[in-house]
Amino acid sequence: MHPMQLHDKTFVPYLSENEILAAVTKMANAVALDYQDERPIFVGVLNGAFMFVSDFLKAYPYDCEVSFVKLSSYQGLTSTGIVETLLEPEDNIAGRSVIILEDIIDSGRTLKELVHLFSNTKVKEFKIASLFYKPAAYTGEYKIDYIGIEIPDKFIVGYGLDYNELGRNLREVYQLNQQHMINLVLFGKPGAGKGTQAEFLKEKYNLKHISTGDLFRYNMKNDTELGKLAKSYIDRGDLVPDEVTIQMLQDAVDKSPDAAGFIFDGFPRTASQAEALDAFLETKNMGINATIALEANDEILIQRLLERGKVSGRTDDQDEDKIRNRFDEYNQKTAPLKDFYKMQNKFYSVNGIGEIDEITARLGAVIEGL
Ligand code: AMP
Repeated sequence: MHPMQLHDKTFVPYLSENEILAAVTKMANAVALDYQDERPIFVGVLNGAFMFVSDFLKAYPYDCEVSFVKLSSYQGLTSTGIVETLLEPEDNIAGRSVIILEDIIDSGRTLKELVHLFSNTKVKEFKIASLFYKPAAYTGEYKIDYIGIEIPDKFIVGYGLDYNELGRNLREVYQLNQQHMINLVLFGKPGAGKGTQAEFLKEKYNLKHISTGDLFRYNMKNDTELGKLAKSYIDRGDLVPDEVTIQMLQDAVDKSPDAAGFIFDGFPRTASQAEALDAFLETKNMGINATIALEANDEILIQRLLERGKVSGRTDDQDEDKIRNRFDEYNQKTAPLKDFYKMQNKFYSVNGIGEIDEITARLGAVIEGL
């Protein structure tokens, strides 16, 4: 087994065919012990479970029947997963014992929908058997009755599972190679030096820099609809509404599918932006590795911003009232995100006062320690 490329991502070998088949046989035997006195119906969940169902049935030693349902899980605009039923359970399952065969259970969203789907049928009872299970990702309440292999919370392909439809035909399971990806959030008050530092870090670590402030200014300069909308907020030193900012950020990430990682600068600035960012990155099998705060005190920041305002022409940098309003916005809406990232063990604080290259070195030490 060798590393392998599917679309834009590299995958590394994780489970051999033998390991998988041994787990499948063990599951089939465990189910057989419980159901040897009746003829259960196994219901496979398409598409991912087709290989598992096939090998499971070959290993099942007694009489049984098979059927399928098809669910699809996709991301809506709000980034909450919605599960759609594409193929309903058949009527002949009424009064029977049903064992649902799932390829993988991670967050538990699809499982919840399955439980709901089968609670509405007149089955005698139903149980859930999942070949792969990610305990670290599972947030559901339903107990999973039979588990093949517990796996870490990493994206896998092969043996029926796909990455954008590729990889289903592999006999083995591969894991996404995420080692090269670094996604950073640069955190800090206006004037803390996020933009300046991002310019250095993006070169040093080959990352894509996304600054929502820069994106807004670009749109304002070009007088786009987005720019017109953002202008009134920015001129007052208020935050632009979340829906607008989140959509703009997602579009910017989508423009760089091959990036080795991102530096998010000036985003997220509110709790809902932080949650949206996590959910959005999850749909791309990515996540935030670290949130690094550049710390400096208000008086120093105000001096820096007023100086910058003289050369940059930024109107929001030229008026102390507007600057103080931006600090208020930060204290109220953005500062609480420290706890959000601390809870995920991703928060790092760096002294933002000193020479530019000293500060770059401090940031580099954090990044290299990740
Ligand atoms: P910055 O260049 O990051 O200081 O951003 C300048 C201005 O753009 C801010 O004062 C806000 O009005 C707006 N802005 C930038 N990023 C965001 C964001 N993530 N959420 C809301 N507004 C933002």
